[in-house]
Amino acid sequence: MIIIVLGAPGTGKGTVAGLLQEKLGIKQVSTGDIFRKNIKERTEVGILAEKYITKGNLVPDDITIKIVEERLNEPDVINGAILDGFPRTIKQAEELDKILAVKGQKVDKVINLTTPDEEIIERIVNRRVCSNQECKAIYNILLNPPKIEGICDKCGSELVTRKDDTEETVKARLETYFIETNPLVEYYKNQGNLITELVSKSVNKLGKDVANEVVQILK
Ligand code: ADP
Ligand code: ZN
Repeated sequence: MIIIVLGAPGTGKGTVAGLLQEKLGIKQVSTGDIFRKNIKERTEVGILAEKYITKGNLVPDDITIKIVEERLNEPDVINGAILDGFPRTIKQAEELDKILAVKGQKVDKVINLTTPDEEIIERIVNRRVCSNQECKAIYNILLNPPKIEGICDKCGSELVTRKDDTEETVKARLETYFIETNPLVEYYKNQGNLITELVSKSVNKLGKDVANEVVQILK
């Protein structure tokens, strides 16, 4: 099964995708995580991607599509994947359809997460992530704090703030989202597999609540 988790930065894509991975036993594939790993390891792709990411722009389609295509050919995702942060442009969505068609697969469900803009900025500046690449747990110092400040509950590693989680970069990322990625909502609505979920403290709904709901829907 191929599931896409779609949404602006800070809506909880990583949280929802991580929980769906646990609950459904399908691997999460996050392009943001793949880029961050490459940046840390100073690979060619990482050095290139960093220039775009720090400005709040998208990494060019050709690079991103190639990375996902390679990842989807690995054995642990042969039967499916939870795509977190991909696709982010119409071009990426069209290419994904082609990549999957070759394997006899298709996009089965698209979970579209929405959160009011003012909440997004608050969520992102309060976000902390586990520095352990194998763990990648996500916290929010207000909404979902770790038991011990600065330490990951799951693995004990140090929690850090993502370099692109500054108020200035968030504004650029939101703008990029609305121009480049938001058209995908219509694209997948037309394919008939879109579920839209509001993630917001105003309705008392966090990523974990949405993940539980999605599991019920998929049953
Ligand atoms: P967020 O959704 O909070 O911005 P991600 O970890 O999904 O966080 O992405 C971080 C950055 O990585 C994005 O701002 C963008 O620069 C880059 N990126 C991630 N996925 C893609 C993609 N599918 N296409 C282009 N750039 C991407
Ligand atoms: Zn951890």
